[in-house]
Amino acid sequence: MLKGKKAVVTGGSRGIGRAIALKFAENGADLAIIATRESEAALETIKELTSYGITARLYVCDIKDADQVDSVAKEIIADFGAIDILVNNAGITRDNLLANFKTMDIDSVIDVNLKGCIYVTKAFIRNFVMHKKGSIINISSVVGLMGNKGQTNYAASKAGIVGFTKAVAREYGRKNIRCNAIAPGYITTKMTAMLSDAQTEEMKKMIPLGKLGSPEDVADLALFLGSEGSKYITGEVIKVDGGMYV
Ligand code: NDP
Repeated sequence: MLKGKKAVVTGGSRGIGRAIALKFAENGADLAIIATRESEAALETIKELTSYGITARLYVCDIKDADQVDSVAKEIIADFGAIDILVNNAGITRDNLLANFKTMDIDSVIDVNLKGCIYVTKAFIRNFVMHKKGSIINISSVVGLMGNKGQTNYAASKAGIVGFTKAVAREYGRKNIRCNAIAPGYITTKMTAMLSDAQTEEMKKMIPLGKLGSPEDVADLALFLGSEGSKYITGEVIKVDGGMYV
């Protein structure tokens, strides 16, 4: 479905980003992965990606630093040429009750999740415009749509991504650039591994399908949004949450 396409995935070293990158590679796309460091997980992901016979490279960049983002985007464009798909997936949580937040807990979540997404999109947008094509996929969260106790900072960052997605869709639709968001529910990754068994059981009660999702469930939708099958879809926010927020 993506043969010959070139994709950039932020936070592609592990979790949902890794699953998306693998799904894209399986479907023939070349991959530029952005992560904060050359971790074992990141290097393992690159090895697995290249086993599909595609080109895959790791780029180290802290997406909350606009200068780093600009220079890594230039490097990626120099290495890959025209980019077809950008997945803004990198994200963090710093959960606490609002009254107990340290300023840093608020700033870091907004800086990585929201400002990082804007910086990365801005760094690639001219490349998309120049080549009159592009699919941007932003990973939001159901928490950005429904809120969640203990995650006011995170919910704000993910709701911000929804507004950003719709504005980009309006601003760049005429240039044949699409921008959509995915709002996952509870997905089994390192991010949710910190939940206790009791919390996980409580969670399942709120999910009509009765189970947590897998990174592959999110990757299946990302593949659709990155491919031609979704060519008339833009500005959408699509949930992958087992019905948690119907
Ligand atoms: P993980 O914690 O497993 O992975 C996070 C990824 O983001 C890693 O690759 C990490 O890189 C990268 N990253 C973190 N900070 C930065 C930064 N400053 N600059 C560059 N890369 C960074 O997360 P998940 O896979 O669980 O989540 C992926 C996305 O999906 C996030 O945006 C998250 O908010 C969202 N989401 C997740 C849900 C879930 O239930 N898991 C539910 C809803 C949304 P490194 O390996 O170098 O640290």
